[in-house]
Amino acid sequence: VSRYDDAAFRAQLRAELAATDLARFPVAHADLGYGFGAWSPQFLRWLGERDLIAVSWPAPAGGRGWPARAAYALLQELASAQAPAEALLYTLAVGYCICSVGNRDLQAEFLGPMRSGTVTFAEALSESEAGSDLFSLRTQATATDDGWRLDGQKVWTSNGAHADYALVAARTDPQASRHKGISVFVVGLDQPGVHRSPIIDATGEPSFAEVRFDGVRIPGHRLVGRLNGGIVQVLEALEWDRLYGRCVKAPYLRRELEQVVAALPTWECDLQDPSVRDIVTSLATEIEVCDALFARALESMEASGQSAAREVSIGKLFADELGQRFYHQIAGLIGPDAIAAPADGTAAGALARRIGRGLLTSRGLLLAGGAPDIQRMTIATRGLGLAASVGGAR
Ligand SMILES: Cc1cc2nc3c(=O)[nH]c(=O)nc-3n(C[C@H](O)[C@H](O)[C@H](O)COP(=O)(O)OP(=O)(O)OC[C@H]3O[C@@H](n4cnc5c(N)ncnc54)[C@H](O)[C@@H]3O)c2cc1C
Repeated sequence: VSRYDDAAFRAQLRAELAATDLARFPVAHADLGYGFGAWSPQFLRWLGERDLIAVSWPAPAGGRGWPARAAYALLQELASAQAPAEALLYTLAVGYCICSVGNRDLQAEFLGPMRSGTVTFAEALSESEAGSDLFSLRTQATATDDGWRLDGQKVWTSNGAHADYALVAARTDPQASRHKGISVFVVGLDQPGVHRSPIIDATGEPSFAEVRFDGVRIPGHRLVGRLNGGIVQVLEALEWDRLYGRCVKAPYLRRELEQVVAALPTWECDLQDPSVRDIVTSLATEIEVCDALFARALESMEASGQSAAREVSIGKLFADELGQRFYHQIAGLIGPDAIAAPADGTAAGALARRIGRGLLTSRGLLLAGGAPDIQRMTIATRGLGLAASVGGAR
């Protein structure tokens, strides 16, 4: 295992990405504005061929054994290049769960293909009556002779229509109190009994799906973590997901802002106008604040080796609200092109359409990975030591 050099790794990534035509990778749906780009299994394989996926996995799991900041640097550099790297986020999240709490057979089955980028994953946790309050979920896994039988319905599964596998939370002990008796499984989405219906989002993209399971067979070793307790372990592991899923916001918006500033004259927007300068300089400042919040969360998670719930929730809340401000304010500068830019093949047209999509998606991104009230509750209870408010969400 070689020593990790952050500056050298970032420089190597920048050079490789600059030399690559990122537009050649096919995408299943457009970039939604999270910061990690569009969904492209082909780009995930490209990363796998360069041994870039498992940079922060431990060496015994086939990784480079580098610290978490290597995966963080990778995601940030990809975001800065606006690469179509959404599938990587899920591979890192599920890979982290399998590395940390997966059994040996599960690791043997999945870590190799995940490392080479030949399989894709989604997270199918939420249900129609179980979002913030995940412990209300009703999907059920019943023990069979050689594993489990899965029945139920998930909703808002990002990329559920495109991924090969999903991490699925299901009730395994219906008698237990609602916080106990929930387990997590890796489920193949191309097998009999799985019905996936794409949901077309506000921008017209098939970015989510409803996924129904009718008597789906799950082999016994596909259980992730403890029986009847895996959900708690997986939710803890997914704290990295919230960090990785939003640390991309600042580098992505920094690049977006550079392009906007260069293109503003195209929309007859005067960069000498003090009100225009106020908007772009305030956004530039907030982007740096956002980056600093995530750098602090990363340091805190690396130092404790585990939870930094307060820092991650502060970062996520700030990043998502900044995303909303960014797209609203920039759309205001661009004017009508932000909602009706012609597909004229120009860079400015593509940028205007991206801003228009961001205007529509940025509200939803506040909910993905945990709604703002839930982040505020975490900051109140785990950051400020306040009592939990009535409502009792996770
Ligand atoms: C873009 C996007 C992508 C998503 N991707 C996925 C995915 O890949 N996989 C997946 O499983 N799910 C996914 N989801 C679902 C997401 O996790 C849920 O939408 C989210 O957890 C909120 O749940 P809900 O929609 O049921 O709203 P609810 O939980 O019903 O919340 C509604 C409102 O009430 C507030 N609220 C709820 N409980 C409390 C409380 N106790 N105290 C104060 N306020 C409260 C919330 O903040 C929110 O404003 C996605 C959602 C979006 C929008």
